[in-house]
Amino acid sequence: MGLSDIKKSDPEVYNAIVDEVKREQEKIVLIASENYASMAVLEAQGSVFTNKYAEGYPHRRYYGGCEYADIVENLAIERAKELFGAEHVNVQPHSGTQANMAVYLSMLKPGDRILGLSLNHGGHLSHGFSVNFSGMLYNPRSYGVEKKSGLINYDEVRKIAKDHKPRMILAGASAYSRIIDFKALYDIAKEVGAYLLADIAHIAGLIATGNHPSPVPYADFVTSTTHKTLRGPRGGMVMCKAEYAKAIDKMVFPGMQGGPLVHVIAAKAVAFKEALTQEFSQYQLQIIRNAKELSDALISRGLKVISGGTDTHLMLIDLTGKKLTGKVAESALDLAGITVNKNSIPYDDQPATVTSGIRLGTPIVTSRKMKEPEMVMIADLIMKVLDNPKSSETIHHVRDKVKVLCKKFPVYEDIEL
Ligand code: PLP
Repeated sequence: MGLSDIKKSDPEVYNAIVDEVKREQEKIVLIASENYASMAVLEAQGSVFTNKYAEGYPHRRYYGGCEYADIVENLAIERAKELFGAEHVNVQPHSGTQANMAVYLSMLKPGDRILGLSLNHGGHLSHGFSVNFSGMLYNPRSYGVEKKSGLINYDEVRKIAKDHKPRMILAGASAYSRIIDFKALYDIAKEVGAYLLADIAHIAGLIATGNHPSPVPYADFVTSTTHKTLRGPRGGMVMCKAEYAKAIDKMVFPGMQGGPLVHVIAAKAVAFKEALTQEFSQYQLQIIRNAKELSDALISRGLKVISGGTDTHLMLIDLTGKKLTGKVAESALDLAGITVNKNSIPYDDQPATVTSGIRLGTPIVTSRKMKEPEMVMIADLIMKVLDNPKSSETIHHVRDKVKVLCKKFPVYEDIEL
């Protein structure tokens, strides 16, 4: 992949791309919601399909010249169906939030009650947060996690659902490290006459490879992003039972989007093909092994992990015992070359701009082929910084170690800068 044209025509953007390549290579990125897509995915996303309007669906378009757009969209749909065992798939949503929007708008009326995991307890903005469309248009209620265990208590969810009678229940999270019992949430939804929307944005890769139970057999709707554990391009998708297929397709286009991003759909097709391989299954298993190793290593070095560990690709660290905020930890770690995000912990006293926690995830380091021994090294480096976040000597020392480790696990050898 080359950047020679942009280098000549637009040095400012070129320089930002080069710096981003270096940042991704030279830092240990532990952001749980990100991944480094393969060169094949990047090539598809950077392809001439960005030029094409293809309003409509394969073989039912509102533009001429869509014969090749049809091929990539059909490939993406068929591969996604195979990957998840879904009856119907729409690969056109531009993002995870828009995938959720398509489900809400097609099934709910403004003012209808929805019930999702609270943002402060690991849920997502689009599950009913007040300043998101989902909280503005609908009437949100939330469930949380138990203070002591950090776990969802499904009996409690049932009680809240019975009290509030939501029209739709949301399953899924952005910062919950344990297995989600989709079947239990489905049963609750059916008991109260609600739809179940399972948002698997974070754990789609784990689900596709059987490393987390799938909601697809039960849930009325399953939405996802394609860029997290699934390791595709930035985008969204909706899966649903055949009976809802027409309504969902109509709401995505023309309901809430115009032309689909055909280049992104091409990249989704490439990512889904990769996800169908044995190698990808191994990769997902290693993501979980790495997360468990990192979490165990941090716990044994004195950190508190919410719920005591992880079953997935991520963990939520409670920094209150170290008298640190998430904000301070995030910036000290980033200076040392380790990128994480500050994150509220359940029952947090701090505002969302400060927080008492950080969220760590292993998709990217696993994409770089790091394994358990590297997780132990990373835990040591994190602890060095958190024990001494204000020491520039410590920060420099850790940054040097990070550079050495990153050199051993290169990312973009194929990009010609
Ligand atoms: N749903 C969940 C559970 C997420 O964690 C996210 C993103 O982090 C989204 C939806 C939204 O995805 P996007 O940022 O593509 O709108």
